[in-house]
Amino acid sequence: MPSDYHIHGLAHEGPPHTVERLLPYVEAAREAGLTAMGFADHDRFLEGLDFNVFSELERITGMPVRAGLEVDFRPGRDHRQQLAGRPWDYLIGSVHTVDDWEFDRPGQEGGFAAWDIDELYATYFNLVARAAATGIFQIIGHLDLIKIYGHRPRRPVLELAEPALQAIARSGAALEVNTAGLFKPVGEIYPARELLARAFSLNIPVTIGSDAHAPGEVAREREQARELLRQIGYTCLATFYCREMATEPLL
Ligand SMILES: [Zn+2]
Ligand SMILES: [Zn+2]
Repeated sequence: MPSDYHIHGLAHEGPPHTVERLLPYVEAAREAGLTAMGFADHDRFLEGLDFNVFSELERITGMPVRAGLEVDFRPGRDHRQQLAGRPWDYLIGSVHTVDDWEFDRPGQEGGFAAWDIDELYATYFNLVARAAATGIFQIIGHLDLIKIYGHRPRRPVLELAEPALQAIARSGAALEVNTAGLFKPVGEIYPARELLARAFSLNIPVTIGSDAHAPGEVAREREQARELLRQIGYTCLATFYCREMATEPLL
């Protein structure tokens, strides 16, 4: 019963949020053999979301369509209040910004030169830990996104990420295996194998997400993510409905 929970139906353009626009993603999910899917658009488009679109897509296609959101975690922002009062199936907490620098944006790569790389990694993972500690998120997105352009820390990444992994384990959230990294300069799945192995030893559940911003990207390189998880020892994936976690076999 495979699912892909990280799909941006509005891509980078934003609303209108309509059945016509999202339908090609559902069709692509079906063609890819998925049996459930979830849209998780960027939270900057929150006000443009129409929750009736999800149920209408389910009615038309028969595909279970979950209502999610990818929240750009910023310390000091009242995310709980921002997200209240809407029928989410799950919320993905992601860190894309360090000190107002959107490090993963195209053209922002130069910002890495201003940092000691170990300090940057430690600062980034501290933000991930803080996101998990809020308890708001069911899924933590692309755990080691900071490697996007291939900058590697001098210290072992396992050591730098440990506080974030501990916080995720304590929060009960799932960790996302995100295949979009394969299409970035780093050319790797998020997170790295050793981080995923540590997550497994901490009993952290996992999801697989494509981070699709176009229908053709739904479920991309999913088999590679599954194989990685199988090698580490995972046998099931987390699923979400009304913010409750269940599991499905890692088929
Ligand atoms: Zn993201
Ligand atoms: Zn995303």
